[in-house]
Amino acid sequence: MKKEPFVTNQQLQEIVKKYPTPFHLYDEKGIRENARALKKAFSWNPGFKEYFAVKATPNPFLLKIFQEEGIGCDCSSLTELMLSDALHFKGEDIMFSSNATPAEEFQFAHEIGAIINLDDFTHIDFLEKAIGEIPETISCRYNPGGVFQISNSIMDNPGDAKYGFTTEQMFEGFRVLQQKGAKHFGIHAFLASNTVTNAYYPALAKTLFEVAVKLKEETGADIRFINLSGGIGIPYQPDQEPNDIFAIGEGVRKVYEEVLVPAGMGDVAIYTELGRYMTGPFGCLVTAAIHEKHTHKEYIGCDACAVNLMRPAMYGAYHHITVMGKDNSVCDHKYDITGSLCENNDKFAIDRMLPKIDIGDLLVIHDTGAHGFSMGYNYNGKLKSAEVLLKEDGSAQLIRRAETPEDYFATFDCFDILKDMRRK
Ligand SMILES: *Cc1c(COP(=O)(O)O)cnc(C)c1O
Repeated sequence: MKKEPFVTNQQLQEIVKKYPTPFHLYDEKGIRENARALKKAFSWNPGFKEYFAVKATPNPFLLKIFQEEGIGCDCSSLTELMLSDALHFKGEDIMFSSNATPAEEFQFAHEIGAIINLDDFTHIDFLEKAIGEIPETISCRYNPGGVFQISNSIMDNPGDAKYGFTTEQMFEGFRVLQQKGAKHFGIHAFLASNTVTNAYYPALAKTLFEVAVKLKEETGADIRFINLSGGIGIPYQPDQEPNDIFAIGEGVRKVYEEVLVPAGMGDVAIYTELGRYMTGPFGCLVTAAIHEKHTHKEYIGCDACAVNLMRPAMYGAYHHITVMGKDNSVCDHKYDITGSLCENNDKFAIDRMLPKIDIGDLLVIHDTGAHGFSMGYNYNGKLKSAEVLLKEDGSAQLIRRAETPEDYFATFDCFDILKDMRRK
């Protein structure tokens, strides 16, 4: 399948006149339509709710869009909780799924009424000490160990993952939590990441539903929700078949009716905490070619670097690249597309066949809408880019300005070199 940018060359040429490259661009229309499709796919479950994984794209303008679509926030840290709270998400619309959690983060989560999803058995006592009680509604993260397999293919390796309670700890944890005053329970698990198969959620659901039934039978706990968490992936590669969210919703419904309904648990709400699936394809990194270099290989140097998008450098991840305005040209040039970091892994693509690139060409790096900007850092003193929203009416809105040197130096305020700093 041909991967097309969600923005036309003409639109983009206008946008870059106002907002200089590099920047991440997000597609409001795509985000809204996708969010609505997810809700529709799970509309068979009256309690269904998606909590958007804020860490994927922690931008208040995007969170507002999700809020308008009836979606909550899944937070992993104090600042994400603060952001959700400042946007007036209600307590029950905030899930706090953290790990190795500092006490002050539990305290703040409790203060704003967020649902706390415990990562570990020992966190029961830790939480109780931190907030002085156990909340009436509490969730536990489950890790069955071993490898997570669908038919014969291994999806991921939970036995090697730092997250969650073991099976025995789930049972003991529910008992202890009940003794300490918990009344309503949730179960959560995240067993495979970026899955591009409609079978992941139904297989995960089956595992969780079966444990839920046993937990209810053995502890009598009132299980209110089962959180399938994140992990639905997106096709980064042009030849990958995208997930079909309606097939996924239907697959989960089938297992729900097979496992939960006969156990008298037909009122359990399904929650999700999707990040990548919600924004990944609806963001791109826009960068300009500013150098070409002909040495042992052919290089194009861009004005973006791994600080703006870390996935290729960190995981060797594939991100499709479109050279704007050259859709109809043949891909007869082999390039390494690089950023400016003093790190040889700062390459957005290696040996990629593309049309001939000229200096000043705009490159669209696809699928950066989740875990793109947000994974950024400041190595080499490079500054984080702006974020721009392509609105439904076709206009562009700056939703985060680019970092300035002042931002970068701001944390040295104890050091008086700042007063001698020349401003650009
Ligand atoms: C990262 C994360 C998510 C979102 O994962 P995606 O792969 O982006 O869908 C959801 N829940 C938790 C606890 C996470 O850590």
